[in-house]
Amino acid sequence: MTIAIIVHGGAKTISDDKTQANTEGCLTAVQAGWEILQRGGDAKDAVEAAIRTLEADATFNASIGATLDREGQVYLDAGMMESKGLRWGGVAAVQRVAHPISVARKILEKKSYFLVAHGAEQFAEEQSCEMCEPDSLISEEQRQMWEQEQMPEDRSSTVGCVALDIHGNLVAGTSTGGLENQPPGRVGDTAIVGCGLYADSRGACSTTGDGESVIPVVLAKTAVDLLSGDTASQDGIVARHPEQAAQQAIEVLKQKVPGEAGCILLDRDGRMGWTHNSQDMAVAYMSEALHQPAVFTCKQQEAVNALS
Ligand code: ASP
Repeated sequence: MTIAIIVHGGAKTISDDKTQANTEGCLTAVQAGWEILQRGGDAKDAVEAAIRTLEADATFNASIGATLDREGQVYLDAGMMESKGLRWGGVAAVQRVAHPISVARKILEKKSYFLVAHGAEQFAEEQSCEMCEPDSLISEEQRQMWEQEQMPEDRSSTVGCVALDIHGNLVAGTSTGGLENQPPGRVGDTAIVGCGLYADSRGACSTTGDGESVIPVVLAKTAVDLLSGDTASQDGIVARHPEQAAQQAIEVLKQKVPGEAGCILLDRDGRMGWTHNSQDMAVAYMSEALHQPAVFTCKQQEAVNALS
């Protein structure tokens, strides 16, 4: 069995002054997850650790630094799913939780539920998850933009991670603050299984982008389905490479709906792919084939070696 991990920092436009922060944030996250996988740890732990790192980084639209809705409030959504038993957990519209991905993970372990708002916060408290004041999630930058009614030049975006552990478990996780200026009560795709995330025995996918476009094409499940391929061989169906499957999934979205999206995809052999139709998407990944993690902001044409 091989191990692998890939993270994204959202489908968006990354301004030049934010490129380094996006790159470093994704690298730190992938390293946190990789250390766990390397020790023989569970892919759920790796995905949770990677996403917690991104949630704690105000560069990204997840937890601290999340975008504000029309009323100047932060509402967070997150989900996690594993191939083992197709177990999943989701939370949406939470305000008092520091790391929504950890709450989604706890739900996955208890019972596959989608908990929202007050009920999700109550569950988080009962499970001794880290609670916080809603205002502590609001960064100065987001507050100022909201007060000045500015739409940021570089839209902040959702984070996600997919990982394969030594036991063959594939896990997907995604976490977001939603869209800038979203109407109160709006919930996007991020925590919805099949849309913002999906994992089964074939692969795992985490998506990002306009939830209103991701949902109708069930983007994460579409990408994993496309891994199955369509070419028959003597041994049966030939699996499609995740790079190709990810591209085809985004093609499906482009053909059917307007809007921007991106996805990261990992198959059961530890092969990876990612695509987006937004201008940029920061991605970092690590596998046994590499000596050190690689990072790619998609502005650049080449993967940048992590430690060089
Ligand atoms: N998909 C998220 C949402 O619609 C936003 C994003 O990925 O940027 O809530």
